[in-house]
Amino acid sequence: MRAKKSVLGRVVYYCVVVLLLIAVVQAYGLYKENNFNEFLRSELKMGYSEFKRDDEITYSDMASYRITNSDFNDALFSKTVKVTPNTPYKVTCMVKTQDVVTEHEPSLGGAQIVISNTVEKSKPVSGTTDWTKVEFYFNSKNREEVDIGFRLGGYDDNVKGTAWFSDFILEAGSSLTSTDWDFACFFFNQIDAVANSKGEQKRIQTIMQDADYYTMQEDMERFTRTCTELSGGLMTAEFDMFRIAEPITSLSYDESNGYYVGAKDVFKQIEPYLQQKEYDHIFVCIDLGSANDDQATKTTKWIGLGGMDYLQIGFSNVHIPRDNKEYLYHFAYNRNEFPEEVFIHEFLHTLERNAQENGYTIPELHDNAKYDYEENSVTGLRNWYAAYMTQTIQGGQGLPKEVYQTKPVHASDLEYTYTLRDLDEPANAIQELVGSIKRLFQITNT
Ligand SMILES: [Zn+2]
Repeated sequence: MRAKKSVLGRVVYYCVVVLLLIAVVQAYGLYKENNFNEFLRSELKMGYSEFKRDDEITYSDMASYRITNSDFNDALFSKTVKVTPNTPYKVTCMVKTQDVVTEHEPSLGGAQIVISNTVEKSKPVSGTTDWTKVEFYFNSKNREEVDIGFRLGGYDDNVKGTAWFSDFILEAGSSLTSTDWDFACFFFNQIDAVANSKGEQKRIQTIMQDADYYTMQEDMERFTRTCTELSGGLMTAEFDMFRIAEPITSLSYDESNGYYVGAKDVFKQIEPYLQQKEYDHIFVCIDLGSANDDQATKTTKWIGLGGMDYLQIGFSNVHIPRDNKEYLYHFAYNRNEFPEEVFIHEFLHTLERNAQENGYTIPELHDNAKYDYEENSVTGLRNWYAAYMTQTIQGGQGLPKEVYQTKPVHASDLEYTYTLRDLDEPANAIQELVGSIKRLFQITNT
């Protein structure tokens, strides 16, 4: 009996050990699969996204970070890192996608690197792709920390599918000092798009004339000289002009401005040119036809729209209306001696925004009347812009001269960098445990 009991005891003992081992292995597996270290997970619609670590689909030794959106959603994992103000940064990672589709078309959503709660983002990856390197450049502006996110979604769109992220690198460059701006001016020959108007769809088809192209080119030439002149030499400007044959097939819309051409509407057409050279600002010359004719608000009668951005590059629309405003864009003595005004005005909206985002309090670009600058029928608001650009509005107000250095961050700004360790995988088990306990299973709303 004793022997039997002892055999039984041993069997029970081994069973318990095996069960414990299985439990430990399972717990470890669960832990590994859910361990997002110090990244905080968030999603727009709770329960539609799954965040997992994946040690089968990997780019390197590390288990990749996988997000699966079972339905259209905006999901990201992010980490707040300390940054030095007014410094260019670059975040790099490897991304692989499967069946990633956006809810709207066209869209700048997808798998991408972003700063959460801002419009700052990298180019998106969508569809089904093998491991692809994604680079995201940003300027810290006046911030001392930013929340860097790896997103399957978008600032203004939702996304479905799976994305894997791996090998995160954060680099800092030295502060930007150049005040030489490169402008890209895209002249679109055609728009063929559908606009929704009061519940009805109307087709907008416009075709530009050769003469329009030459007019815009002349105005851009004047614009570059005028930038230097009005800023009192605080900046210089150069430009390249591109004539795009492929039509614009979609328009963006917002309540206060009506229809306009947003970054996503021309991404496909202009991105190849932006790969060739590091441009600091983008103008898009278009004829919106009757798109805004029946919009109720007065502001939809705009000829220029600015303060927008194209992946951290300032982005403006210049609209050429058909209703034959003969001298609008043409130089003529005593009639219009400032035909490049719209280009100056829209570019200044970008500088105005840069200054504000860098923490400066400056007069609004539209507040000329408040400071007693009246529009002149021949020279427009030229004097106002000159005062604005040289900070000589009464009491020394206007754009701070530092704003001329707030150009978009480009690859060449990060040739000589130092790598920050903030996005590294934990180097040892204790670090890993501390990071994961902090964040384990923590998912919040974006
Ligand atoms: Zn304006």
